Amino acid sequence: MTMTNVDRKWLIGLSLILLTAALAFAVDSWATCPLDGAEANWTGHKKWASQNAKPDCEYSHNYGVDDQGNILKHTFWTKCDDDDR
Ligand SMILES: [Zn+2]
Repeated sequence: MTMTNVDRKWLIGLSLILLTAALAFAVDSWATCPLDGAEANWTGHKKWASQNAKPDCEYSHNYGVDDQGNILKHTFWTKCDDDDR
């Protein structure tokens, strides 16, 4: 079986769409913690200060365990790094 030009164009187009989607997801899903520079994951929470403003996204990451065995977590809000919204 050989690939036609149409098949090839379709594959390239699909690859571009997937790459764009992957980049958009990567940009939106983590941020640098302002306290220690660690990589924090988006919690899925988003809020708008006003309709025209960029939304804020909530990020958190674990940074250790205290004496009682509780997980210590940094949680912070920062502007969502996504120009589409
Ligand atoms: Zn942190």
